[in-house]
Amino acid sequence: MKEVDILIKNGTILTMDPHQTVIERGFLCIRGDTIFAIAHGEPHELRAGKALDAKGGLILPGLINGHTHAAMTLFRGLADDLPLMEWLNHYIFPVESRMDREFVRVGTLLACAEMILSGTTTFCDMYLFEEEVAEAAQSAGMRCLVGEVLYDFPSPNYGPVEEGLKYTEALIGKWQGHPLVSIAVEPHAVYTCSPDLLIRASGLSKQYGVPLIIHVAESVSEIEEVRKKYGKKPFEHLESLGVLGPHVIADHCVHVDDAEIRRMATHDVKAITNPESNMKLASGISPVPLLLARGITVGLGTDGCASNNNLDLFEEMDTTAKLHKVGAMDPTVLDALTVFEMATVKGAKALGMADRVGSLEVGKKADVIVVDTHKPHLTPMYNPYSHLVYAAKGSDVSHCLINGKLVLEDRRLLTLDLQEVIQKAKEMSKKVLSWLSPPS
Ligand SMILES: [Zn+2]
Repeated sequence: MKEVDILIKNGTILTMDPHQTVIERGFLCIRGDTIFAIAHGEPHELRAGKALDAKGGLILPGLINGHTHAAMTLFRGLADDLPLMEWLNHYIFPVESRMDREFVRVGTLLACAEMILSGTTTFCDMYLFEEEVAEAAQSAGMRCLVGEVLYDFPSPNYGPVEEGLKYTEALIGKWQGHPLVSIAVEPHAVYTCSPDLLIRASGLSKQYGVPLIIHVAESVSEIEEVRKKYGKKPFEHLESLGVLGPHVIADHCVHVDDAEIRRMATHDVKAITNPESNMKLASGISPVPLLLARGITVGLGTDGCASNNNLDLFEEMDTTAKLHKVGAMDPTVLDALTVFEMATVKGAKALGMADRVGSLEVGKKADVIVVDTHKPHLTPMYNPYSHLVYAAKGSDVSHCLINGKLVLEDRRLLTLDLQEVIQKAKEMSKKVLSWLSPPS
């Protein structure tokens, strides 16, 4: 008799392994933080500490949100439908300049609750007070790759950029070897970071062997600004500074021409696309099918809640597939399976976590979700990938396990007190409104 900690049975398992193996009426066992067995049928000679019934639903790798600013959940719906500069200068920057640790803690806990409830098990974050983000993710039981945003102007967290690099280095030291939290070096963008800062950030990421995460080629105005300042395109500029490499994760990559895509491919730069944010801010359409065709790893992100306005990756997958079809006037340009890969295996590869998560394989960390398909909008089911991208919603996720630990059971959050998180977020929203009004 074999002993396991958790058994998930009676579901169709989409492993997302290299052969895209699908196991109908399968079961999956977890021992400690690791997937111990995956097989067809009923488990025999097995004693499980806890058994979960998938009730004929889908058993999947947890989804990976490749780019977000988690605490921006507290800006959800604060200001929409505005020109970018008015939105930034009159709303986002004034409140961000006054925010504190407490704001980031409450906002990130709210984000973690929302992400777990919609099947996301890993997120990649860029924001201020990232120590709070790491702590919040740890208490929620979520896997994350986080880093303090670095730019040329003073930060409400660390002050001058010199201190930002030290803060990042301290984060790397503190969280090294942590089972859930990993740290990245995160210069904000080419137009907000001097060449000197980019070179130093790159040096730090290489010194510690951690990813370098940066927004690149998000808007037309960015391309114009970088051209005026440096006479180059964003990736061309980064290449000339010696910053590009396989450890670089570039968020957005909307306005990239052939030469820029070649640079990305040559240096094996990873891309994270955020279509809903790019649509809402009218930034444009990233050439994702072309990036994929050139062999570039593309993951999927929601970006922050001020420009989305939610963290539901099911919605993001749906939008991704449809946006590219209409963008190219070609329904074959990006299919459901490819988009699902972007939210799982490709996302894991982009974040440098492919050895641990992104697929359900024996020996990998147990980040697993169960989707309840006993719903009118998921009936009948001919193709599970089609349903996951075009019909399912985050609220169809019934169970969620991260690193072998059950964090959502029958839609009940086990690691967070949801009522308390919502109450605290509502209280914080009053503070946000007071930050907007002119000081008396
Ligand atoms: Zn962003």
